[in-house]
Parts: sequence; structure tokens; C-alpha cells
Amino acid sequence: MADHPLTPSDLATAGPVALAQGRVPGQDWRFSVVFEMARVLARQQDLETLPLELLSCVIRTWEAAEAGALLLYDPSDGWLAVRAALGYDLAGAPHIRLAPGEGPYGRVFQTGQAELYPAPEAVAAARASLTLANRELFAAATAGLRPAQCAVFLPLLTPEARVGVLILENRQRPGSFAAADMPFLQALADLIALAVENARLRKELQAARALEEANRLEAELTSILAHEMRTPLTSIKGYSTALLMDEVAFSPETQREFLQIIDEECDTLQELIHDLLESSIIDAGLLRIEPQPLRLPHLAQKVSDDMAHRAPQHRFLIDFSPDFPIVDADPNRVEQVLRNLLDNAVKYSPDGGLIVIRGEVGQDEVVISVADQGVGIAPEHLNRLFEKFFRVTSALGRHVVGSGLGLPIARTIVESHGGRIWAESQLGQGTTFYFTLPLKGPDRTAADKELQDER
Ligand code: ADP
Repeated sequence: MADHPLTPSDLATAGPVALAQGRVPGQDWRFSVVFEMARVLARQQDLETLPLELLSCVIRTWEAAEAGALLLYDPSDGWLAVRAALGYDLAGAPHIRLAPGEGPYGRVFQTGQAELYPAPEAVAAARASLTLANRELFAAATAGLRPAQCAVFLPLLTPEARVGVLILENRQRPGSFAAADMPFLQALADLIALAVENARLRKELQAARALEEANRLEAELTSILAHEMRTPLTSIKGYSTALLMDEVAFSPETQREFLQIIDEECDTLQELIHDLLESSIIDAGLLRIEPQPLRLPHLAQKVSDDMAHRAPQHRFLIDFSPDFPIVDADPNRVEQVLRNLLDNAVKYSPDGGLIVIRGEVGQDEVVISVADQGVGIAPEHLNRLFEKFFRVTSALGRHVVGSGLGLPIARTIVESHGGRIWAESQLGQGTTFYFTLPLKGPDRTAADKELQDER
């Protein structure tokens, strides 16, 4: 029996040594492997899990292969690393790093030629050519296990790329892998290579798209920020410069009026910055919802009183039934949603008018609405309101400062509570925003009781 790796010419003239001794009887094991692999590929496309799925598919369906490993090449660091292994102690395996050319693994990767080691001595000799660190890691990964009696090393190649190496071992019988099986095994390895490369390209594409989108949003954000901040800043600068002019003496009333404008413009700037910070918190997945029993009519009254102070041209009406139920929701976050909707109702009804905050009770949810008599929203814009940075520019005929982030933030908050948010509008007539909050929190009864007791 040969104790050296079989070269391609050996394989072409395979003698008795290459006769299969341990494989599944009959011809259909090949069919089983391909069939199983097709099933894996049909459902599994994720680069993180695909290598192990493919390897286990070969080992499950082909009796001769009892253990194996899949090493993938990472072009960013130039190493071959174990990405999947079966039949090894895996504690040390993740640390194995092989340079192309090192040992049979690296050689097969570099030359693109499969190698068949039909006897244990050949396998052991092949491992001996690894660096000391890798020899120790391999020894640790196979400690206590029966040594491989024979092994096959297959390059994972696609027409465009060297992807890695597949190793299959049999620990029972030397010669379990047949030279006659090699063309089929190489075809299998090619399929694995294609699948892995495909998954890798898909992942790269997704990352590139995400980066492109992030860059686009960042650029958009910067230009929106610059543009939106300029309006209040120009006004602050103008009025403060005027107040500081020595040569002009403004009456106390005028001074107060200017200071009032500066104060309001500072609020606008503060809101812009607040929206941006909130939006980045949401993007980072850091939004925390801390539900507690909440009396919505009280909250609505509070927000409306604050707003009435700042918007003397508008009238506010709160319409909640006296027995409006208590909901489980995060008071600060729901307040943020209400403030946002009321803020918009005021901003986009420049001639004043009535703003109604209404609460209605449905089967399993409450519906809160904020209705204004403002400029309204055209039907084609209604569905886009909750997109980040979306702003309708034309309706008012003058620029209203805003980030285009208020409604997307409101939507995230409402949906994090398990609710929905939407708008209905008639252009020139007014807009009503609705949002729902589920009625049945997990511990409704306890929450209700707590508040009833408080009353
Ligand atoms: P911002 O108000 O800062 O622009 P929002 O996300 O709160 O951002 O709103 C997005 C857009 O939706 C606004 O620019 C405005 O065009 C439109 N909009 C929101 N609320 C109303 C409303 N009550 N009436 C008319 N248009 C509105």
C-alpha cells in the first residue's frame, strides 16, 4: 500500500490501493451526497453557517468520510483558517492559521491539485511538515482520537478564485478513499467552492450596499443639517448683532421682541439637534422602551398645555372619555410622539386654527389622533412621511425648518410598543395623525390595579 501522497498520474492509473474499501455499497452514495448538498444550498446561503452545513452534508451521506475540515482562505490577511470541522476537538481549531504552501493543506491550496494519502504513515508524515505551532494545534484538536488512517485533501477552486481546502479523513481503515472517487470528490469540492464564494460575494455586496447607503445618508444628513441650521442661525446672528449695535438704541419693547425671536430660534436649533441625536440612537439600536402604567389623557393635557403656551394662535382641544383605560407604555417616549405630532400640527398650520387630540378605545388597542386644520398633505406624499429625511417642500410656499426625522422617530417608538402610526389628510384642509397602543400589556391587571389604587 502506498504511504506517500498519490500524484495525479498515480490517480490516473489507480491500482488496487485505490479501490474503495469503506464506502457506501452500491452506486447511489454519490447521488445521496449531491442530493443532500442541493438541499443545503437551496435553503442555506449564509457564509457563517454554510461551510459547516456543507461539510456535515458530505460526512453524513458518505460513510468513508468520518471526519473532516474546511479551511477557507481570507485574502484580507493571507491565511487559511479552519471555518468548519467535524470529528475534531474544536477548542484549538479556530486558532489554526496556515500560509499558502504550508503542509499538504497549503500545498493543495497553492497548486490546485488534490492529494490522496491512503495510509496512516502518509497522513502523519504530511502533518509533520506543518509549522510547530500548527502541529501542536492539530495535535490538540485530535488528542484522544484515533489517528487518521487515510485522508484526502481537495482544493476548493472556482474559475476566478482559490477559496480554500477540504480535508476528509477515515479513522478506521487505510485505503477507504479510492483514487477512482477523486474526480467525483473534486467535482463536489468545486461545488462547495462555488457555493462558498457565492455566499462570500453576496456578503460583500450587502456590506458594500450598506456602506453606500450609509455614506449617502451621511452626505444627505450633512447637507440637510447645514441647510436647516442656517435659517435659525442667520436669524439669531441678525438679531443679536442688531442688539449689540452701539449706534442704534432700541426701545425696551423692541429689545424684548428681538430676544424673544432669538430664544425661539434657539429652541428650533435645539429641536433639530435633539432629532438628530435621537435618530442616531435609534440607528445604533439603543432605543429603550420602559413601559409602565400610563394615563394618556393626563399626558395629552400636559403636552397640549405646553404647546398652547408656545402657539397662542392655535386652540387646543382634548377629547378623551372619562373612563379611558390605562395603557402600558413608556411615558417619556409616548410624550415624545405626542410632542412631535403637536409640533407638526402647529408648524404646518401657519394660520392657526383648532388642534384636536382625541383618544378612542378599540377592541385591543387605543387610538390617539392629532388633527389640525393646516396645509394638509398631498396623497402621493402620505406614504412617504415616515421615511427618514422626507419633507414636503411645496405646501407652505415658505421654508419651515425641520429635520425630516420627527415622524420616523415617532414611528419607531410607536412600533416598539407594538402599535401603528399613519396619517390622513386633505390638501388645504388639514391633517390627522393616528397612532395606536396595544391595550393588553403583559401584566395589565396589576398595572390597572396599581393606578386604580392611586386614584
Ligand atoms: P419635519 O417636520 O422636521 O420636517 P417630520 O418627520 O416631523 O419632519 O415631518 C416630515 C414632513 O411631513 C414634514 O416636512 C411635512 O412636510 C410633513 N408633515 C408632517 N406633519 C404634518 C402636518 N401636520 N401637516 C402637514 N404636513 C405635515
